[in-house]
Amino acid sequence: MTRVRFAPSPTGRIHIGNARTAFFNWLFAKKKLGTFVLRFDDTDLERSKEEYAQAIEVDLAWLGIAPDLVVRQSQRFALYDAAAESLKAAGLLYSCYETADELDRRRKRQIARGAPPIYDRAGLKLTSDERTALEAEGRKPHWRFKLQDRTMRWDDVVRGASQIEAGSLSDPVLIREDSSYLYTLPSVVDDIDLGITHVIRGEDHVTNTAVQIQLFEALTADRKAPCFGHHNLLTTASGEGLSKRSGSLSIAGLREAGIEPLAVAVLAVLTGSSDSVHPVASLEELGEVFDLNHVSRGAARFDEAELQALSARTLHALPFETVRERLAHHEIAGTRAEGFWLAVRGNLTRMEDVPDWWRVVEGEIEPVIEDADYCRDALALLPDEIFDDKTWSRWTAAIKEKTGRKGRALFHPLRLALTGRDQGPELAQLLPLIGRIKAAGRLSAPGG
Ligand code: GLU
Repeated sequence: MTRVRFAPSPTGRIHIGNARTAFFNWLFAKKKLGTFVLRFDDTDLERSKEEYAQAIEVDLAWLGIAPDLVVRQSQRFALYDAAAESLKAAGLLYSCYETADELDRRRKRQIARGAPPIYDRAGLKLTSDERTALEAEGRKPHWRFKLQDRTMRWDDVVRGASQIEAGSLSDPVLIREDSSYLYTLPSVVDDIDLGITHVIRGEDHVTNTAVQIQLFEALTADRKAPCFGHHNLLTTASGEGLSKRSGSLSIAGLREAGIEPLAVAVLAVLTGSSDSVHPVASLEELGEVFDLNHVSRGAARFDEAELQALSARTLHALPFETVRERLAHHEIAGTRAEGFWLAVRGNLTRMEDVPDWWRVVEGEIEPVIEDADYCRDALALLPDEIFDDKTWSRWTAAIKEKTGRKGRALFHPLRLALTGRDQGPELAQLLPLIGRIKAAGRLSAPGG
């Protein structure tokens, strides 16, 4: 049974780059009929905020991602404590007393000597008397995981055969002086406890994987790690990384800007892959194209301007069923709602513009009468019939014959009178929705 997790730390709003990771996991789980866990990495009690956790759930829901399970690391400390104790008992987690300054000086000396700046394991060599003396000075230990000097290999589900020399890494600190946990240990403990089968995340975590595989080996009876996949990170068109702080590409920001969630999904998933970016009508459709093997090794640059255009193109193709509820939210419902949607969708750039068009067909508008005589002639020729999608061509053919007008001179004054707007959806489709009574009323409105 496939089980994946998306593990944001709730220290800010998520952005489109985070959505990429979330979608990769979610679409992967859907494909394998597996489970998607939302795990809040909130062991940093100072920076993590419940309101951010809730906002992340709202953002994911807007994108169409509903987790099967939500867990918070802040409620699972007992598990991490137990794991830390077992590592200590196995001699794999050892105390160190250096200050950040001391470590920094040591690193600089190593670099000056041309040696790799790796932690020298001084903590491991301390006698218990030395430890006692350091603690008597008021020092508190931090705790490092003792890495084995091995080549760590894994078959990355995105990048293929991968390896890292664990010997080239410093023993990682798992527990800080103030006894708080860094991300590494809780992440592995939870992946084990929750039965995660695939860890799919950004390539900024590749190095962590070497460490984490060793932790999985140390903490599980069968010494097995899940499968790993590391995807390229989204950057702006100019190659800048996205950050939770920058805000502009936050999911909330995009929602407020009226961008369609499906357009965000498509750009988040297909940028930097061998599949071309194209609008889809549903996440299922996106899931059919999505394949971790298509994700490229190179950069995943995306253009914000593309988002606007893709969002509009997404709207143009959305089936009525998909938007029925959203339209109902704007009080656009009833037997005419579907015909209305099909008439106007191709003209929208944002869903927010839709109530405006509903008013054109259902409500009151301010007709614009440029040429009252012409409108009167047109009114006289308005067919006396139940309007359908042929009415417009029949009517305008008759006006053309009577007035000799053609092109813009023929059509534009009619558009202004009937809709009060300079441009918009096809009148052939709008006219039956407006209906004869309203159309006649608008054509005979007083001219300006
Ligand atoms: N909280 C980590 C992050 O947001 C999770 C990394 C992981 O998926 O293991 O980078």
